[in-house]
Amino acid sequence: MSLPFDLRPNPHPRTAEERAAILADPGFGVHFTDHMAVATWTSTDGWQDSGVVPYGPFTLDPATAVLHYAQEIFEGLKAYRHADGSVWLFRPDQNSARLNRSARRMALPELSEEDFLASIDALVTADEAWVPSGLSGTGEPTQNAEQSLYLRPFMFASEAFLGVRAARRVTYCCIASPAGPYFASGVHPVRIWVSTTYNRSGPGGTGAAKTGGNYASSLVAQAEAAQKGFDQVMFTDAVEQRWVEELGGMNVYLVTTDGELVTPELSGTILEGVTRDSILTLAREFGLTPVERQISLEELLAGVDSGFVSEVFACGTAAVITPIGLLADDAGEHKVSAGVTGEVTAAIRKNLLDVQYGRAEDTHGWMRRI
Ligand code: PMP
Repeated sequence: MSLPFDLRPNPHPRTAEERAAILADPGFGVHFTDHMAVATWTSTDGWQDSGVVPYGPFTLDPATAVLHYAQEIFEGLKAYRHADGSVWLFRPDQNSARLNRSARRMALPELSEEDFLASIDALVTADEAWVPSGLSGTGEPTQNAEQSLYLRPFMFASEAFLGVRAARRVTYCCIASPAGPYFASGVHPVRIWVSTTYNRSGPGGTGAAKTGGNYASSLVAQAEAAQKGFDQVMFTDAVEQRWVEELGGMNVYLVTTDGELVTPELSGTILEGVTRDSILTLAREFGLTPVERQISLEELLAGVDSGFVSEVFACGTAAVITPIGLLADDAGEHKVSAGVTGEVTAAIRKNLLDVQYGRAEDTHGWMRRI
């Protein structure tokens, strides 16, 4: 039986004026809508107590397991408003499947795709006014065209118990946050520091799960790279420090002059991005051959230096596609394509955005209407 996500309306929602002021400059992850979807799981009764309720804090016992042993997983996807006012999700079935893969790895209960989608439908319907339009009065995309409502489903061990074992009580929640264009001043290539000091994950670890600890362990690397003047960190494998894996929150692609679009294969230590998967599908439409294989750091840097690797980009839900203009490690800097956004990078980025915002035909059946 599917879970009901009935609405218990927030008695004190933000006024239309307050909402408009936030949507005029939402930033990322700082403002939240008036409601959240919730459900609770217990080992005896399964999922229950579901609903869409007023947004607000959880009260947690200090012994709540997640605070001690980090049994937590999450997802990230967006709701996009099309020119006709309708609101759509991009491949939410993929986020559901990944949430359940993460759940299995972290000994958390699975949530059916039906219940996952119902929670999101109900939340976005309740807070529909929070989905930015990014359109001018005449329906033309504005410079803020890449606005969306970012959705953050997550699940954590909410049992108050200090023993180390899978929790017998788990909380699921989905919150929503209006998001401005990731690159407010336009798309610029980023500078990447290649870390061979810190690793994100190792064989048998949790790298393929979307779990908080992976992000916690990337923060020092990110902070050190920022101190050196870089935007993001690229991680290599933990065994040989030799193979390119991914960035802290994005997958990586390279374009070669012989027409290949290459991304590191799924090794069990990197996250299977929805954007990564979509680009593999789109490659042939751009006359490119999609390739998933191991890429050594040596090969990547030599290719960038010789020009054989003509473009490098990162991809993920938040920024869609981010061109990489420079890669650096202790041995020196390697400039990609004179630091500009490459043709293939720009074309695939535009195509994905056009599908997400309903400006191009959804030939793959990726969009789901709320
Ligand atoms: N890798 C990591 C580590 C991430 O956190 C993300 C963001 N979810 C991605 C890759 C990109 O995944 P997606 O395209 O599904 O957003």
